Order: sequence, then structure tokens, then C-alpha cells
Amino acid sequence: MKKFILSISLLIISLATVSAQDNNYKGNYKGTDTKAAGVVNNHENIVTEDINQFKNTPEVFQHDKEQLQTTLTGGIPMGRWNEGLMFDGIAPSDHFVSAANWYPNTETVKEDEIRIIFMGSSPLIRPGQANTSILMQFGNGKNLVFDIGEGAVANFVGAGIALNEINDIFITHLHVDHYGSLPYVYMFGAWNGRWNEPLRVNGPSGSEPKYGTAHMVEGMKSMTEWHRDAFDVFPIGRGWEIEVNEFDFTDDGGVIYDVDGIQVTHWQQSHCKDGASAYRVEWNGMSIVFSGDGRPNKLTAKYGANADVLITEMQVEVVNITSQVYGVPPVLTRYTIDTHHNPAYAAGKLYNDSQPRLAMATHTTDDLYANNEMVAEVREHWDGPFHFGFDGVVVNVSKEKIWVRDGILPDYPNATPPQQGTMVADNGGLIIPEPRKKREDMQNQYIRDMQYDESEYYPEGYQPELMETWPSDKPIFVPTEKIPSSMKRRRADFDEQGNFIKTK
Ligand SMILES: [Zn+2]
Ligand SMILES: [Zn+2]
Repeated sequence: MKKFILSISLLIISLATVSAQDNNYKGNYKGTDTKAAGVVNNHENIVTEDINQFKNTPEVFQHDKEQLQTTLTGGIPMGRWNEGLMFDGIAPSDHFVSAANWYPNTETVKEDEIRIIFMGSSPLIRPGQANTSILMQFGNGKNLVFDIGEGAVANFVGAGIALNEINDIFITHLHVDHYGSLPYVYMFGAWNGRWNEPLRVNGPSGSEPKYGTAHMVEGMKSMTEWHRDAFDVFPIGRGWEIEVNEFDFTDDGGVIYDVDGIQVTHWQQSHCKDGASAYRVEWNGMSIVFSGDGRPNKLTAKYGANADVLITEMQVEVVNITSQVYGVPPVLTRYTIDTHHNPAYAAGKLYNDSQPRLAMATHTTDDLYANNEMVAEVREHWDGPFHFGFDGVVVNVSKEKIWVRDGILPDYPNATPPQQGTMVADNGGLIIPEPRKKREDMQNQYIRDMQYDESEYYPEGYQPELMETWPSDKPIFVPTEKIPSSMKRRRADFDEQGNFIKTK
């Protein structure tokens, strides 16, 4: 269907050039892509307006109304687009490198735009699907992460996101498939660049303190005791600090984040146990809603109403499919769905009650049997735009347009170096802290004496001095101009128009 819209747009644009001398005609059609897309979606106007315009063209061109109609519409009646299946604005933006795919590090997020990247999309970790995680990137340069399930970091790396950019994390609930990567981000983000700011974790309270996000974070600190002490030989700085924003899970509609014009509100989800939450993110007159896990409910219909993008979890109603994929007995699947999850029929009703511009499903199994079945179930109630948010799916949202693409994430990417944007702005340079500990503080001499002497393995003539201690016992200040451009990529790789500078 995408291709159909595109080809019609192209046809109209190319026909428009036929009478390019006509200024009035130019005014109508040679402007923005939005205009062209609008024309496509408003079939009533295509023929009447075009007939009027074409009336003034020389006789050599086609003037027959019927033939023009057939040509302009590809012979297919355009009524479909006014029947609620699609609407003006489902269209790729002009700045896309490709309308079909998104390639990491080739496009900036435009000033007025939100880009969503699905970094994990399933409760079951498989090579093709990590646990749930959604990155939202805003035109003001902010990145917010919603859930950080096991395996998702691989997709962040594939998408060219540096580990120290995975900050401002919002956890919907404390099932481990929604925060399993947090210890990794905590440890390795601190090792590679999160030296001057804390990790920021937002999440719900529970019915008792031990069920809340703060308690989970304390538990994670305890779990990583060995790792943190070991990594204290590195310049960690503030890397072990965690700023926890645990909000009262019962405060439906409460604002939990209000920074740089981005507002996040939350409400409860019915996910078997108290504490599970949903989020609505508002910025620049647009809103993205992520329901997290949970049974379809009226609160989501209320607080998620009229979102630009509404993302829910989804389960296929035909449990036999899920049971096969998950390797779970059908009775356990049925019971799990009916106490915890969102069957596709119900999601369709929720979409129809909430009326988003685009409805999306994630936290589901990417499986041919399941996908087709789920679409059929969704369509029982919702005939608007719908997509799955599987791993690597990218959504660009502006007020005028929404477009969904498959991201091409490489299997073996080079990771992006830490990005120092905010830090540099704050300090006028980059501070590399001094390590808190030395190797001798945490390791006995005996095992170091058991190491091969380097002269035994390095070839003759190559006997380097090992760097066995960190070379500075004080913090190092690196002025902005001395910071490698690879660590300032968010600015340096793009020209003023936001185009990727391929020569770099
Ligand atoms: Zn889950
Ligand atoms: Zn869950």
C-alpha cells in the first residue's frame, strides 16, 4: 500500500511539471510533499482541480476527463482512502534517506519531530527479538528510554546509540523482561563515558517498599558489588550514582517528568500485581503512549486518548500459536493472558476507543502465524493505521506525517563512542576522573606473580612496557576543541541542514 501512495504521488508531481509555466498550478502542486500527499488522499479534488488546471494546457496534452481520472488514480477508485483505513499524513518525510528503510547514523531527528526506535519487542528472547525496550528521540536532542529488557542493548549498539546515551530510563514494571539490561547499562555505561552524571531511573512504587523501583535499584547495587569494586580501577567518576525517581503508582495521571518541554505522565495497568504502569509522553504538541504490559482497561482509553502513537503490548488470542512459539503448555498460556495480558481483539477495541493517529503493538511474538492472526483480531474493532513494533522498527512522527520503516541494524556493528554533548556544554570540556582504586587494592600478589612474564610471549624486538596503572592520579580536563570528533558525533557528523556528511 505504501508503494501505491508513492507511485501516485510521483505521478501527480510529474504531471504537475507538464504545465510548469502556469504559476497557479505551481502554487497548488509544486510545493511540499505534504501537499502532494494531501491531494492523493482527497480523491474528490484530484479530478475536478486537475481538470481545471489542465484545461489551460495546449491541445497536445490529454484533456479527456475520464482518461485523466484513470491516469491520475492508476485506474483504481480512490474511495478507499476516505473510508477510514488511512488518513492524510501517512507519508515519508522529505529528509529520509530511504522511504523503505532506516539506516543508523544517516538521519538526524528534525527539530519538530519525534523518532521512535523499537530496541526489543518480545517477552521471549530470541536471536531476532530482544526483551521490550523503546527509544524515543526528540527534536530537542533528548533521548528517553522506555523499558530496557534483556538483550535490547545489542539493538541500541546496532542503531548507533552510545551506552552513555541510554539514560533517562522509564520502567513500566519490574518483570525482568522489562529491565533485565539495567545492570549492564549501569556497569558498562559507567565504564565507557557516563563519568560526570548519574544513571537516571524512573519507575513505579509497589504495594510495599520492597516491591518498588528504589528497592530494585538497591538490589541491583548489591548484586553488582563485585563488579563495581572491580571497575573502580577505571575512571568511573559519578558512574555508580543512580538517581531514582520512584513515583506513587496509584497517582493516575500524575506528572513524573517535566524537563526541556517533555512531560511524562503515568497510570496503573492491570497486570496481575500492583505497580505496573503505563506512560504518556508529551512534547511539541505531540504525544506517544506506551501501555507497558497489562489487561486492556479504561484508564488507558482515558489517559491514552488521541495520542499520535499508541503502543500497546499484544497477545494472539489463538493460544496454540503462542504455546508453540514459547514452548509453553496451552493452559499456562491461556491463564497468563487472561490474568496479565492484552489479547489482540481487546487491543483493537482499545485503539478504537482511544483513536490514535497510529496504533502499534509490541511485546509480542514476531511469527507469521501469530502476526496474521493478530491483524485479523485487531481489525475486528480498529480499521485505522496499525503496525507491529518489532526489533529495529523506526517511526518518525511529526504533526504532518507519520511513517514506519524497518531499521537496518547490522549484526556486527562498531559501537558508538561515548557522546559528550551535555557534559561538554556544562563544563566547557570533558572531565576524565581519576580511578578510585588500584589493582593491588583488590587482587592478591600471588595471582599476579603467576602471570606469564611478557617477555615470554612478545616477540623479540617487541617488548612494550605494560600500562599496569592508570596514567594519571588526578582528573584530566579535556578542552572541548581537543575532544575527538567521534565523541561529538551528535553535532559533528551533520551539516547545518542536518545532512549526514558522508566524507567523515
Ligand atoms: Zn513483559
Ligand atoms: Zn510484565
